[in-house]
Order: sequence, then structure tokens, then C-alpha cells
Amino acid sequence: QSLKPAVMTENIRINNPNVKYTDTHIEAQYCYHTTAVRRDGDTLTVTPSVSELEFRTERHVPRLGVMLVGWGGNNGTTVTAAVLANRLGLTWRTKTGEQKANYYGSLFQSSTVCLGAGPDGKEVNIPFRDLLPMMHPNDIIFDGWDISSMDLGSAMERAEVLDWSLQEKLRPHMSHLRPRASIYIPEFIAANQAGRADNVLKGTMAEQVEQIRADIQDFRHSSGVDKVIVLWTANTERFCDLTAGVNDTAKNLLAAIQSGGEVSPSTLFAVASILEGCAYINGSPQNTFVPGAIELAVERNVFIAGDDFKSGQTKIKSVLVDFLISAGIKPTSIVSYNHLGNNDGMNLSAPQQFRSKEISKSNVVDDMVNSNPILYRKGEKPDHCVVIKYVPYVGDSKRAMDEYTSEIMMGGTNTIAMHNTCEDSLLASPIILDLVLLTELCQRVCVRPQGSETFQSFHSVLAILSFMCKAPLVPPGAPLVNAYFRQRACIENIMRACLGLPPQNHMHLEHKLQ
Ligand code: NAD
Repeated sequence: QSLKPAVMTENIRINNPNVKYTDTHIEAQYCYHTTAVRRDGDTLTVTPSVSELEFRTERHVPRLGVMLVGWGGNNGTTVTAAVLANRLGLTWRTKTGEQKANYYGSLFQSSTVCLGAGPDGKEVNIPFRDLLPMMHPNDIIFDGWDISSMDLGSAMERAEVLDWSLQEKLRPHMSHLRPRASIYIPEFIAANQAGRADNVLKGTMAEQVEQIRADIQDFRHSSGVDKVIVLWTANTERFCDLTAGVNDTAKNLLAAIQSGGEVSPSTLFAVASILEGCAYINGSPQNTFVPGAIELAVERNVFIAGDDFKSGQTKIKSVLVDFLISAGIKPTSIVSYNHLGNNDGMNLSAPQQFRSKEISKSNVVDDMVNSNPILYRKGEKPDHCVVIKYVPYVGDSKRAMDEYTSEIMMGGTNTIAMHNTCEDSLLASPIILDLVLLTELCQRVCVRPQGSETFQSFHSVLAILSFMCKAPLVPPGAPLVNAYFRQRACIENIMRACLGLPPQNHMHLEHKLQ
């Protein structure tokens, strides 16, 4: 993997005295509007307020290294292959013609945002990634761990995701990449994974955490990257028991690691990353972030985010239910079947691992349901059922079948049935890139609240990443948003705030008045 020098990539310039460009930063004065509501009986008193914030964004884009836990899996090999193929500008023949490497499915690389109107009154749209100086995925250096020792070239073949002619072109660039030995505690993933576990660390839990820390340091030094982000894309684990004295506080968690208590591999990786000052992202559904891990991240001022990539069925759910409820239609039953035949599917065929996924998928409509007391009484929810079956023949090409039944006007019924087929790992890979690139950007942004002398960074629980997560982790007491367009608007508007631009309001008043 080659290492390109870091560059400053700014294609837009803000023409506003409230926005200053220094050699190192973009400094923007920003009016943040909020609205407080107080209820007295039937009366709501609504008080708008404004506070003056200053956003400061570092312009220098560092060299980023990403370490994947589960590097040899379908997602790990596919995202590595996709970045290499894009970096090398590869093209390959398929039965329908020539295909070129791209980043479709990535919010930052392949979607646009509207900056404003051009001289002709028409919208000017730019790639999302151009709003602020961001790392390009082609420049990411990958490393990682896997309990399977298979090299990345062979693991890509095992994954059966990419076209064969592309694999042939990539193999020389991937075969020398080998996952580091990993932490394997058999009881956390399905027993059917035991066969591939030939690359595992030995020693006590504490010694294994020390080895992971040493791996991170080794990667940082040997690759020359400026910062490292660690992301879990390994198998789904069973939920960890939350036990007072074991994982309830940072201190107890660190002690449990020393004494060998109930701590999952994903939490051990989180602890190692946090202790190394590296952001840690959880792409699977299990409860990696036990209270002690969250406390440790907050204490050390390190970003954590998760849980579970929001790639297919749940993404559609967070669009469709948002649409239905915001249109005043009442979803009453949501039934989701999946079948898939990849290794993830095999792991999820075990009850405890399926249960983790079921929990992660089950709360995704709650915020939308709770927002509409006209349709739903307090505590009322639509029926919501999720089924996942392992069918080896379909491989990575996951099938998702959903039925949304809703109540419409005057007792009518509306049923939407959907069938979705696509390669799961080709949906998850661009999300992995978005997660790490947004995390890296957030590490360069800080905000000075009104009346404060000092700048603050975002909360350690990086809730802005909710858009890419099925079961978003948010700071204690913060609202949990699953609705797709609200999550997307949050990212766009925070990035606009860094440039002193007001939130996108879609009013187009200039076209609506006489
Ligand atoms: P996969 O089974 O192909 O890959 C997982 C890899 O993790 C395997 O190579 C396995 O050997 C390795 N592994 C297991 N335990 C490990 C450990 N303790 N340390 C290091 N490596 C370990 O699965 P995948 O399709 O790549 O999915 C990865 C994860 O992402 C799964 O948990 C899945 O539920 C989650 N996920 C995937 C999607 C998607 O669309 N693909 C969406 C949401 C979540």
C-alpha cells in the first residue's frame, strides 16, 4: 500500500466576514438557533433563542490508517479491495461490458449537497466531501486483525463478492496483506466459526490487550500514518452480561481485564484502542460499549461510535417509516425476512448471535413512532418482526423481504411489499469508509460556546455517525434519531456550520413570492 502526502483539498471558499481562513484553520462565527417549549396545561409556550458559537476546523488533512478487526472477512476484504481498485484506477470486463472502480454508496464520495443558487437561479450541487477538507478514501492505509490467517488475496476469493476478473487484477496487491493474530473467546461468536480460528493470540486477557496496543503502535510507526482509527467488522458476538463490579465503570472494566472476567473480544479491542488514543467504531450489533467502556472513552477524550452498520433493510426502514409517519399514515405492522449465505449469515444462524442482530434491528422505528401522538397512543407501537435465515447458496447476495402494513384514512389498509437483492458487503464497504472519514473530520473540529474562553470537541460518543448505524449510540440523555433524512441533515448542517453557513432550509422563498 502506498502512502501519499497529506494535502489540503478545499474547492470552495466562503465569502463572509464571519469566516476566516488562517494557515491552519477555518474559523467561523455561527448563530445557533434553538427553541425551548414549556407546557402549562393545554398551553405551550415556545421560546426561540440564539447563541453565538465559534467553529474551528483544522485544514490540514492527516495521513490516516484504519485497522479493521475482522480484516479477512467479507467486509474487510471488500473495502480493502475497493480502495485499492479505486486508487489504481482499475477497470475490468464483466458480461455486460467494462466496469470502472467507483465509490457508489458512499455518502461523502457519491452524494451531493446543495451549496446555494448560481447566477441563473439554479441550484449548485457539489460532492458532499468537498464541503470541508476531508481525507480521500484512496489515501487510507489498511491493516487489521482476523482469527483466520488467510491472506487478503485468498480471503477476497473466499468472500465471493467481487467479479473474478477484478480479483485477478487485485490479487498481486492483496496477497501479501496478512491479518494480525486476534483475540478469540469462542463463547462470544457462533460455534460454527471455530474452523477458521487458526490465527489467535495466547496469554491472559490483559496480555492480549497489551498485544493489540503493541499492534496499533507497530502499525502507526511502520506505516508512517498520523492517526489510526480502529473499526470492528468481525463477527457478531452475543450480548455481554452487564454486571456491577465487572463492566459498570472504567475502573472495574480495567480490573476485570486484569482478573479475566466477562469481557468480550470487541470490548477488549475498544479498551486497547481507547488506551492508545484511537477512535473505535463498532460495526456489529453487540453491546461492545458496556458502561465501563463508555466511561473510559469519556475519561480519555477518545471518540467511540456504533453500533451495527446501517446498510440495507434497516436503511430502507428508516426512510420508509419516516415517510409514512410524517405523511400522517400509520404503520401497524412491519415484517422483515432476510436470507443470506455468507459467513455473517452462518454466524447469525446461532440463536445468541441472531438475538444481538434482532435487538439491533428492533428499535429503529421508535423515534418516528414516538414523534406522532396523533397516530400512536402513549406506549403503542407497530408490530415489528425480524427473521434471518442462513441459505448458503445465495452467498453474499442477501435477500430482504419486507411487508409494511399501514392504516390509512377511514379504516383503509395500505400494504407495501418489497424485495431487495444485493451484495451485502458492497453496501457495507462504502459505509465503513464514511464512518472513518467522518470520525477523522470530527477529530479536527472544535466549538467555542458563547461566553466560553475555551474550545470543546464533540462528545466522546460521536452521535453524528448515527446516519451510518442501525442502533446509534448517543451520549446519555441525548435524543436518539433513526429517521434517515434527519440524520443526513444533521451531518450536512454541522458541516455547513463549520463554514458559517445556516442550516439547509429548503424554503426557496425567493421563488415563492410575487
Ligand atoms: P464475515 O463473517 O465475512 O467477516 C467477519 C470476520 O471476522 C471473519 O473473517 C472472522 O474470521 C473474523 N473474526 C471473528 N471474530 C474475530 C475476532 N475476535 N477478532 C478478529 N477477527 C474475528 O462477516 P461480514 O459480512 O464481513 O460482516 C462483518 C460484521 O459486520 C458482522 O458482524 C455483520 O453482522 C456486520 N454487519 C454487516 C453488514 C453488511 O451489510 N455486510 C451490515 C451490518 C452489520
